[in-house]
Amino acid sequence: MLTFEELGLKPEILKAILEIGFETPTAIQQKTIPHLLNSKQDLIALAQTGSGKTAAFGLPVINQIDSNSKKTQSLVLCPTRELAIQIANDFNAYTKFSNRLDVLPVYGGASIETQIKALNRGAQIVVGTPGRVVDLIKRNKLKLEDIEWVVLDEADEMLNMGFKDDLDFILSHTPESRQTLLFSATMSKEVLRISNNYMSNPEEISSGKRNQGADKVDHFYYIVKAKDKYLALKRIADINPDIYGIIFCRTKRETQEISDQLVADGYNADCLHGDLSQAQRDAVMGRYRKKHLQMLVATDVAARGLDVNEITHVINYNIPDDLETYTHRSGRTGRAGKAGISMAIIGPRDVNKIKQLEKVLGKSFTKADVPAAEAVIEKQLMSFVDKVKSTEVDEKQMEPFIENIAAQFEDLSREDLIKKFVSVEFNKVLEYYKNSNDLNQAAKPGRDSEKGDRRRKEGNFNKLFLNIGQKDNLNAGTLLGWINGLQSVPNGIEFGKIDVQRSFTFMEVESQHEQTILDALNGSEFDGRKVAAEPKTGGGPRKSNRPEGKRHSGGGSGFKKRGGDRKPGGRARVKAGSGGRRR
Ligand code: AMP
Repeated sequence: MLTFEELGLKPEILKAILEIGFETPTAIQQKTIPHLLNSKQDLIALAQTGSGKTAAFGLPVINQIDSNSKKTQSLVLCPTRELAIQIANDFNAYTKFSNRLDVLPVYGGASIETQIKALNRGAQIVVGTPGRVVDLIKRNKLKLEDIEWVVLDEADEMLNMGFKDDLDFILSHTPESRQTLLFSATMSKEVLRISNNYMSNPEEISSGKRNQGADKVDHFYYIVKAKDKYLALKRIADINPDIYGIIFCRTKRETQEISDQLVADGYNADCLHGDLSQAQRDAVMGRYRKKHLQMLVATDVAARGLDVNEITHVINYNIPDDLETYTHRSGRTGRAGKAGISMAIIGPRDVNKIKQLEKVLGKSFTKADVPAAEAVIEKQLMSFVDKVKSTEVDEKQMEPFIENIAAQFEDLSREDLIKKFVSVEFNKVLEYYKNSNDLNQAAKPGRDSEKGDRRRKEGNFNKLFLNIGQKDNLNAGTLLGWINGLQSVPNGIEFGKIDVQRSFTFMEVESQHEQTILDALNGSEFDGRKVAAEPKTGGGPRKSNRPEGKRHSGGGSGFKKRGGDRKPGGRARVKAGSGGRRR
């Protein structure tokens, strides 16, 4: 393995690396640094966050920037404001001992005037989100004619977030002579399109197998009924008293609900989703980074800018429908050489999705049992005992009181005394787990093998109309997976025929559960789109002649809203460091 010195970086950069504490280059750095220092050939690197990719492109680019010129020589594009700031901070650390280099992060949601002033002063490296970069190019403030290196960081994420047109615009405005570096965790069709259109004969390197999650991540899944998911989550948290985890939910509402429940149950948690203001998001991320929060409940989109190395557990509250999402989620643990755990809480019929993930990731998942109450209690007690044993006693402060206190306990035996002290902390836990059930469920065959069964009940099915369809990346499988994952959908509801059209869908549901499903779907979000569902009557997709008895209340849209919607920002608050766990 080559050292940083042997890779050919300048002494002042080596000094900075030493100060940061990097000892040996990571696998991706071993490959990219010599390539970028010695060749102008474009580069595609398949690398996850956590692989050291920022230094993989940052160090060799910085090594070659001409600090005597104020012109912008490198443009780094990334999906989120947080990542732009992070990259710029990392670059500043790498250039600590170099001649003055200006690295400017530019992103939306902040004053463009300030960014323009900084650009006018000159910045050799600009790190930005695509929307703001386009804006600055159109205003003729960001000049691209001297760009030598364009980095597309997390290219798949940028494309997932809808920046395709912006990337096309930016890349088509950069000089032909540039070297383009594309970093992506996954190689989707869209990423390939970008590389075909804007890169010439790129060298392709990867720090591992394609699409493979971090090597040090172990994958587990738990099978529970939909109604028991939250209880399972709590047991997982309780059996891991030192958890520093992130819980991924599919919708903003679910994210808020789970976070609120955790907070109400005494856990040290908060949430991150798109309805929060930037200031609120920054505050939550800051507290999580400082470990003032133990559990962060987040949507995929909101968690994108979060860059934290020590996450112990990634918990998939729903199994995502696509591999990319799972890869990104699980890649948040097991970073920077540390071990990590990725867990999925799934329904009895979701096991086939695990099998698919195993196949594509090339990793096996272990079926784990949701811990029994006794195991959780024992773990919590032992953790408490360890805490007591390692607590430092301030003898001096204690001294004036200890005699009196000891006298109070004189007639208690040592054993009774221990029991009483432990009970102060644990009575609530013991009470909570007193009559708790086994939450584990056996796997059941997936929906596909049930077709025969479904037809059997055909007479009892009602047809629903949904306003989402193929154009929302929906198919029958993803629809069922999504519905199964909704908290308010109890287990065991039968669905009949599902007919996914381009912009809408018909689906059959057992008639006695029609209202439950309508209530669950209306107001939910699928892939960022608000879902509207109604009973289908007659021939057309959107007939409004519903039977009177089934007419929904709730405003002009004709769709019933579920209660419990929260106003943006109406979030639960936890005091920093309020780590007590009560139920
Ligand atoms: P990244 O993939 O760029 O998000 O980096 C993940 C983490 O790994 C960051 O905290 C980096 O500071 C750290 N890192 C990057 N390169 C190295 C290295 N060669 N040795 C140790 N840590 C590193």
